Amino acid sequence: MSMQCLNKKRTSSCDELLLKPSHSSPLARERSNSSINNIKPISNSPNPTKKSKSNLKKFEKEVSKLNFFPIGSNENVAGNYEQYLSQTLPHIAQMKDIKFDYALESPLLYEYFPKNILELIVSSNKKILLLDLDETLIHTDFEEEFDEDKYDAKISFYSENKENELNRNFKLGKYENDNESEITDEESKDDSKQKVLNTVGIFLRPGVKKFLEEVSENFEVGIFTASVPEYADAAIKYLDPENKYIKFRLYRNNCINVCDLLRVKNLNIIKNIPLKKVVLVDNNIYSFAAQINNGILINSFYTDKNDNELLNVLSYLNNYILPSDDVREVNENFFGFKKIVNDIISNSI
Ligand SMILES: [Mg+2]
Repeated sequence: MSMQCLNKKRTSSCDELLLKPSHSSPLARERSNSSINNIKPISNSPNPTKKSKSNLKKFEKEVSKLNFFPIGSNENVAGNYEQYLSQTLPHIAQMKDIKFDYALESPLLYEYFPKNILELIVSSNKKILLLDLDETLIHTDFEEEFDEDKYDAKISFYSENKENELNRNFKLGKYENDNESEITDEESKDDSKQKVLNTVGIFLRPGVKKFLEEVSENFEVGIFTASVPEYADAAIKYLDPENKYIKFRLYRNNCINVCDLLRVKNLNIIKNIPLKKVVLVDNNIYSFAAQINNGILINSFYTDKNDNELLNVLSYLNNYILPSDDVREVNENFFGFKKIVNDIISNSI
């Protein structure tokens, strides 16, 4: 069966799914048993050649055959680990023939690529730790009216007047006068570049600042978010105001957009870096669909003040990832995602 996933209708609502009794993630189980800006296009971004255009077409063709509606990462909450996996890994199995590296041949993916990232990584002996932002380190409330007291912080940022660009329910934006200091004179002459000021409330995942401080001692830490730079930069500025912990950032533009439904973070976008030394911590399993063994799946965080998943991840990183020769082997031994996906594939043949 083949159908355009863009035209697909959603058959079930995430909200309708029943949560099963508590099954904790392996990270949580393990810890209980254990002692344990300068931005510019990257210099070697590809030029669109005939071959790369043809590869991009192949990629789009494979992607268009996908026949599922993704499960929201809001289903990846404490107590629902196994159900979340049972719903999502069959989708990952469906992507087995997709060559995500073909998508990297699109120069568009290299927008906003940090300037010095290659030098940084090549010259470093440390492993690379990529961290998702939303629902991994923080949760952000974009509600129109909010009670400031309930948030850990309130951040403001300007965005262009394109609500869809932010993929959020942006009702907060209010048009600012062109004489606002954040808007340059040049931009103010161009009405089409009128900026919108957004103010949002953020909840910090418990222990996030300590987590960043500690991981930055042993890893080269970067943020890889599917959010837009305007918002992500404001959030990161709050998390790491002195730029002490987070060395580089990858944004929505650096994700591979699959049928407008998924944003896959292909780690090969960081060229010349051996994948055996890269991990991505993310609450959305589709984020690491291109390299399932490089992913560390963490529960989604919203507002739970008793959440301790970052502590679990820290313990896992220190005890398993740091001493490993190949992070993919360690992750597979621990999470077993690839085996499950392979089993699904062989059972469906
Ligand atoms: Mg996320």
